[in-house]
Amino acid sequence: MRKPIIVGNWKMNKTMKETKEFIDAVDAAAASENATFGIGAPFTALSTAVAAAKNLVIAAENCHFEDSGAFTGEVSVPMLQEVGVTHCIIGHSERRTMFGDTDETVNKKAKRLIEAGITPILCIGETEAQYDAGESEKVIRDQLTGSLADLCPECVANIVIAYEPIWAIGTGKSASVEIAENCCRIVRDQVKVMYGEEAAEKVRVQYGGSVKPGNIVEYMAQPDIDGALIGGASLKADSFIEIVEKTK
Ligand code: PGA
Repeated sequence: MRKPIIVGNWKMNKTMKETKEFIDAVDAAAASENATFGIGAPFTALSTAVAAAKNLVIAAENCHFEDSGAFTGEVSVPMLQEVGVTHCIIGHSERRTMFGDTDETVNKKAKRLIEAGITPILCIGETEAQYDAGESEKVIRDQLTGSLADLCPECVANIVIAYEPIWAIGTGKSASVEIAENCCRIVRDQVKVMYGEEAAEKVRVQYGGSVKPGNIVEYMAQPDIDGALIGGASLKADSFIEIVEKTK
């Protein structure tokens, strides 16, 4: 039985003050034995978030794979460990398209996070052009082949994979339940191809892309969707609490 995991992805939003206000408003609602709820916050807000959260898990939104060195503006995994985050989003499509992340660098980040005991939330998903061309399955399998290369089956069993079709992110145009379930099933099948049945049964697969209080229940009812990565609807305490309440 896979425990559902819902994570907000704040992107480049919220100051430390706003973070504290949000966590204070939401944290009590996130207490649950049945599901994990969390927030991905900007680096500057992470220590505030970690200090304020008792129930929410806190994720960074990126990391570098090297521990230190001449990488201006980057943040390493040991730095995240020190702050106390338990999760880290990697390979988000915004990082892939705007900041040069590739399957290869995402794979290095995943390895370093796993070594440090921080759970990667590894994002993949096709563009609108790839979707229109009927290439979704190939893109999903290719991205996972690269991003999940050379890991151990037990490691993969414990990560979170977020399937996020780029055409559904921040557009309000969420993928139909059928498309989301089908693609999350393909994700699970690719894990099975690479790491076997047990890892595939254990790995948690999120859907992301315009998830909101009005559609969370139907996504969560799907057999291969174990959670959601939520951008816009995670920014307001009210809407995030509504999503939490509907998932518990
Ligand atoms: P959205 O973003 O919920 O605003 O579509 C999802 C994401 O980018 O993770």
